[in-house]
Amino acid sequence: MLYAVGVVDDDLYPPERLGTGQRAAAAAGLDALLVTPGADLRYLTGYQAKAGERLTCLVLPATGEPTLIVPRLERPAAESSPAPRTGVRIVDHADGSDPYPLVAAALGGGLRAVGLSNRTWAEQVLGLRAALPGVAQRLAGDVLRGLRMRKSPAEVAALREAGTAIDAVHARMPEWLAPGRTERQVGADIATGIQAAGNAFTAFVTVAAGPNGASPHHTTSDRVIERGDPVVVDIGGVMPSGYCSDSTRTYVVGGPPPVELAEAYQVLERAQREAVGAVAPGVPAGAVDAVARDLLTTAGYGPAFLHRIGHGIGLDGHEDPYLVTGSRQALEPGMVFSVEPGVYLAGRYGARIEDIVVCTDDGAERLNRRPTELLAW
Ligand code: ZN
Ligand code: ZN
Repeated sequence: MLYAVGVVDDDLYPPERLGTGQRAAAAAGLDALLVTPGADLRYLTGYQAKAGERLTCLVLPATGEPTLIVPRLERPAAESSPAPRTGVRIVDHADGSDPYPLVAAALGGGLRAVGLSNRTWAEQVLGLRAALPGVAQRLAGDVLRGLRMRKSPAEVAALREAGTAIDAVHARMPEWLAPGRTERQVGADIATGIQAAGNAFTAFVTVAAGPNGASPHHTTSDRVIERGDPVVVDIGGVMPSGYCSDSTRTYVVGGPPPVELAEAYQVLERAQREAVGAVAPGVPAGAVDAVARDLLTTAGYGPAFLHRIGHGIGLDGHEDPYLVTGSRQALEPGMVFSVEPGVYLAGRYGARIEDIVVCTDDGAERLNRRPTELLAW
């Protein structure tokens, strides 16, 4: 199903999630969570707030009434957001007034430790510290990551929808990708295509042709795509549901691929397939990385696979669990993450295959379903 902007599904953002957050905070020995705009706030309340210099902060005590502190000019947005249906009390502050005492007032005294959302701006961290003297500040992420990385069926459905939408954009690549065009021109078309596919906005577009493909986080440039260039296309959007997509394919346009790259790609495709095949409940995240890394290393491409194999995805494009060498985080049904081995040959070209998968009771389900072979036209 499609989630229209402003319409919130109670399955996706259950109103009782605030209570779940409170219990998790209490279990972690925190007196409260202080959550500023971002994925944590949306996860807990459904409210997609603007991050800015004016303080917006969900004050979620381990027990007692939650309060959402917002700038006065954001009050209408907060009231029309899904947040009120969670039972949260909304308190506003006017420009020129100090909002931090409102946080202290919402909490009362006797506090020992609070958890701050991990990406709270430093100026607000310090403002909260001054308003709550002697209270230890810890990371709310230590409490919330355990909730957020175990996706509900509604969240998995939203991620499946996001995956289908980004697959539809990859399917249109022959319309846009051609020798003689610049990466930037192709990227602009892709960005428009991402929105046309139902996303609320484009999160990122990488079009990395020839040697630029050896830089995993290249975006676009004025490089003209040449005949036979391998082109790494890594794209992602954010759906109206708030959930993200992220998928990479490598294409060759206008001529046969370089032999060296075609050989590497055979190993890469096998590495990605076997890594996806290794996903199952109880398997350590690091073991999935190892499956691909061992294959690539045996074939001589170990140093060329220069990043972890994957990352969790949800309301953030990158979130727990991280599938990185040595991680003992056991995979569980409902965890959703990328499996994206790559080979990067500096100064020449690169290739990556990236699919989002969900760990199921007996393995992995791919949420991206485009062909994984080196596609040429
Ligand atoms: Zn990606
Ligand atoms: Zn990714």
